[in-house]
Parts: sequence; structure tokens; C-alpha cells
Amino acid sequence: MRPFADVAAEMEETLDPGDWDEMRALSHRIVDDSIDYMRDIRRRPVWREMPEEVRTFFQAPLPRKPAPTAEVYRQVTEKLMPYPMGNVHPRFWSWYMGSGNFTGALADFLAAVQGSNLGGGSHAAALMDEQVVNWCKEMVGFPASASGTLLSGGSMANLIGLTVARNFKAGVDVREEGVAAISKPLRYYGSDQIHSCHRRALEVLGLGNRALRRIATGEDLRIDLTALRRAIAEDRAESFRPVCIIANAGTVNTGAIDDLEALARLAAEEDLWLHVDGCIGALLAIAPRNAYRVCGLEHADSVALDPHKWLHAPFDVGCILIRNATAHRESFAVTPEYLESTPRGLASGRWLYEYGLQTTRSFRALKVWMALKEHGVEAFGRLIDQNIAQAAFLTQLIVEEPFLELVAPTSINIVCFRFRPGAVSAEALKALNTEIMLRLQEQGTAALSDTTVHGEHCLRVAINNHRTRRDDLELLIRETVRLGRQISGI
Ligand SMILES: *Cc1c(COP(=O)(O)O)cnc(C)c1O
Repeated sequence: MRPFADVAAEMEETLDPGDWDEMRALSHRIVDDSIDYMRDIRRRPVWREMPEEVRTFFQAPLPRKPAPTAEVYRQVTEKLMPYPMGNVHPRFWSWYMGSGNFTGALADFLAAVQGSNLGGGSHAAALMDEQVVNWCKEMVGFPASASGTLLSGGSMANLIGLTVARNFKAGVDVREEGVAAISKPLRYYGSDQIHSCHRRALEVLGLGNRALRRIATGEDLRIDLTALRRAIAEDRAESFRPVCIIANAGTVNTGAIDDLEALARLAAEEDLWLHVDGCIGALLAIAPRNAYRVCGLEHADSVALDPHKWLHAPFDVGCILIRNATAHRESFAVTPEYLESTPRGLASGRWLYEYGLQTTRSFRALKVWMALKEHGVEAFGRLIDQNIAQAAFLTQLIVEEPFLELVAPTSINIVCFRFRPGAVSAEALKALNTEIMLRLQEQGTAALSDTTVHGEHCLRVAINNHRTRRDDLELLIRETVRLGRQISGI
């Protein structure tokens, strides 16, 4: 027996297929099935309840023995594929998500085949990753000298932006001394419509929820600038340290866009960091008919955007852009600049992990890159305009329908409305509209969500979907009215 050899050479294993031709045939079938799945999406329900048998299937214990790949795939086709969340369907308008694209799905497959780790190094995927970040800068009008990185989504992108703002503005070396060394408590400002990820970011940053002052919004759900000025002055007088304004370029509730030009001026006057949560709206900058809505975006210190929303990249991919590249790197890098890499070879590229918190990073750039190359950025801009025109169309249908009422002004692609059967209590109205929403989901007709805007409960349709057509919206109105009348017996 050879020393140290507890596995004989002839017994060595690999995860590679035993029969590549068999794998080739199965892979072709998977691609064929996937194309049918996407092509026929409109014929399937948006969502459906899973039978008990599916729930129990996913409670099976850890498999210990092998199964043929074809059998594993069969289980996926039976137990997984028929029960999707539904966001690739033309009538999915819940929360706020993109609807994917087939080229992006192929890209995710190819990214996994090529297998690169985007922590850094000298290889083509790293160059592509940097190129996609550069394209994001170009889309929102940021200078080429700005910095940025791709992340899992908008929540992480906002976290990175708010972290750099903290480190840059805290007045102490937070990385070395920690938040306890900050003498005056830091203050961030955002409207009362701000996304919950900001609260969570400030909590993990050690600043706490109270460091985020929610400023009132007007009828238009945009931040009240006078109230914001007053809050900043109050805080300075009370020995807080105002550091950052978080502007909404598209709120998640109604799509309202804060006055970015005015906020940029105010941030400059008050020497504050301007971070724009552009998860919804930063990409309006590429939409010819609606770009004017985000004028001022280019003055921000940082912008969070979400290619898995209006660029429809399969999940997940978000992006943070930071004007001050040094401030960005200094918030996360632990290697001094001179130790960055070897002069040649695999480690001679940039260390991409120095711009965020992940070390190993997946190859997210490829799905964005391939779809942008395939369609060109102008097509994405037109699709954004299309969704906004569809939301205006839906708003018109609601206004014309006596049983429906608009609950918030439609500014971009989010429509807030409700069924109203005459004079009923707020609770009854909420129960009725919730029931309509659930039945629309259970019938598989449409997926909407609900929200509360300035105290009023409503149904919410967020059209971030390149498959939606106007007749889908007409169907939504017909079914909402039919269900509303049926449930309330009128
Ligand atoms: C979606 C969204 C987020 C969070 O982004 P994820 O990609 O879901 O992490 C943050 N802010 C706004 C305004 C959003 O719409």
C-alpha cells in the first residue's frame, strides 16, 4: 500500500458526467423545454397554489445515493417549473420586479459553465464586469472616473452607498475606531416613502433606525423640501451631525420621484452626501420620453440601481455607483494600493472584492452584457417608456370606471387604485380589495400587491414588464370589477 493514499487512483471520482453524449442529449431537451416554457408563458396561470404533494416533496431528507440526471430533471419539471413566483408572466405586477429575458437565462448558464469568480484577477469575466459597471455609469450620466460594483440587488447597493457616505462624512475613522467613536450622532434624511432596506442598512451600520429621519411628503408623495430643510437645521441645533440625503428616484409605493435637482442643490449647500435610491427610476435616464424626470441624478454622490428591474436581467443583479472612487475603495479595501496585485499573471487584475463586502462574487455581468448587446440600450429605454404609457392607459381605464377609484397620482409605472362599491367603512373596503387581489392571484389571472398610501389602503399595479400588453390591462380591469361586484353582491 502506498503511504497517504486512502483512495486508490483507479477509485478517484469526479462530478463530471460519465457519458457526455447522454448529457448532451439531456441538455438539448432542457433547452427545448425552456424555450417552450417561455414561448407559451401567456397560456399558463400567473401563479397557482401548490398541491400538498408538492409541499411534502420538498421535505424529503438529504439524498445519499445517486440518481440519473434525467430523473433529477424530471422531478424539477414536475415539482418546480409549474409553480413559479410568476414574475416572467405578462400579467405579473406585484411588488416591483423585472420579468427576465431568455438571453439572460442563457447567460447565467454560460456564466456557470465558464465558472469565473468575480472577486478579481486577470481574466475576461473581470473585464466584462468592469465594462458593465462602466455602461451603468454611462446610462445614468456618471463620469467615467466614478467607481461602482455589481451586487445582488438594490438593497445591497443601497447598503454600500450608505456605508461610504457614513465613512466619508462621519468625521472619524469609522473603520478603525468604530461607530462608538462618532461624537455627534449621524443623521440621514429620506422621505416617509423610503424603502425599508434603508432602515435595515442603518441598523447594520450601527447607526440605528432613529438615524434615519423620515420627512413628510406632499400630495404628490415627493419629499417636502421645506420640511427637510427644517429637519436639517433642527438637527444641527441639537448637536446631531447631518451626513446624507437619500433621494427617491421612484418610490416603491407609488413611483414618486423626489426633486433631484433641488436635493442636489440642498446637499451641496449643506455639505451632505446625496445618495439616490434609483432601484426603480435611475434607468429612466435611458428612456427618451421620460428621462427628464430624473434630471439631477448625475449630481448625486452615489446611485443605487437595479438591472434586475428595468433591464429585466434574471435575478439577481444590482449596481452601486459612487462618484468619489477613492472614498469607495477606502471603505472596503484592506490591501494597500501597492500590494494590489502581481505584475503579471492571474493575480494581475483589479481586486473587485475591494468594492463591497463579498469576497467570492458570481459572474452577474454576462446576463446584462449579452442582453444589452443583443437589443441595444435604446430598446430598453423604449420599453421603459412603454411601461409608463401603459400605466397612463390603465389610469385612464380606472378613472373612466365608476366602480374604481385612483388612490394616488400615477407618476411613472405604478398605479394605486381600489374597487369602491359606494359608501363603506375603511375596514370593509380593505377587506374587499384584499379579497379581490387574492382571487385574482388564485384564479391565475393577474398578480398584484397592495399597499397603504397616506393612510389609504389600495391595490397596486407595478408594470415593470416587457411582456405586458394593453389588453392584459383591460382584462385586469374587467376582472377586478367583476370580482368586486360579485364579492360585494352588487
Ligand atoms: C426594489 C427596491 C429596492 C430593493 O432592491 P432589491 O433589488 O429588491 O434588493 C430598494 N429601493 C427601491 C425603491 C426598490 O424599488
